[in-house]
Amino acid sequence: MRAFFDFEFTGLHQLTTPISLGIVMENGEEFYAEFTDYDRAQITLWVEDNVLSGLFLEDTEQERAMNYYKEDRGEISSLLTCWLRKFGGTIEFWGDCLSYDWVLFNSLFGDALSIPKNVSYIPFDICTLFEIRGIDSDCNREEFARLKMGENDRKHNALWDAKVIKKCYERLTAPSFAYEEGNKVIIVKQLTAFSGLKCTIKRVHFNGGSLYYELNEVPHLWPHEYLMIDE
Ligand SMILES: [Mg+2]
Repeated sequence: MRAFFDFEFTGLHQLTTPISLGIVMENGEEFYAEFTDYDRAQITLWVEDNVLSGLFLEDTEQERAMNYYKEDRGEISSLLTCWLRKFGGTIEFWGDCLSYDWVLFNSLFGDALSIPKNVSYIPFDICTLFEIRGIDSDCNREEFARLKMGENDRKHNALWDAKVIKKCYERLTAPSFAYEEGNKVIIVKQLTAFSGLKCTIKRVHFNGGSLYYELNEVPHLWPHEYLMIDE
C-alpha cells in the first residue's frame, strides 16, 4: 500500500518543526494533523501568509471522526501509529522533494529505527518519477495534477499537497497521460519496457508537430518503433 504525504513546517533548516501533516492512502483514506507545538519563534511572514493561513481544524469530534487531529507531536505520533496499523502489508511513503518531510516523519517517532513496523524505511519521491518520464521535475504540480479544489483545499495545506502528490503519481504511472508544456499538450504513452525499468525516457521532443521520445538506452530486442510518435 502506498501512502502519499506532505508536511508543512517552520523553516528549511535542521531545527525545523512540523506545523501540519497530510497523508492520503492509495485507496483514498486520509489522515490530517495540525500540530499545536511547532516552534513559534521560527515563524516567518511567508509561513504565516502561506501555511498558517491554510490551517482549518477546529478540534471538533466530527473532525476527529475523519482522522483530522489538532494535537501535539506526542499525541499525533500515537494516533498515526494506530491509524497506520489497519493497513495490511508494508506501507511505502511517497512525497515530493521530501528530504525535510522524511526526517520530520522519522522524528515524529523518535528516530528512523522507531517508525511503525509496517512502514518501509525507504521513502520514494515523485521528483524522480517526473525525471524518468522526461518531464521537468520542477514543473507546476497543481497544473500537472489537474485536481479540483474543495472547501479547505489550498496550496501549502499539507492535506491538499498530499492529494496533489497522489494524483501526480497516478498520472505518471498511468498507461498514458497528457500534460501541458507552454501552449502544447504532450501525450506520453508508457512503454512496456518501463515495468523492468530497462528503458526510460530521457527527453520528449517536438518536431514538425510530432512528439518523439528520446530513450536513455534502447534494449537490444526493442522493436523498430522505439521512437514513438503521437499527436
Ligand atoms: Mg506542502
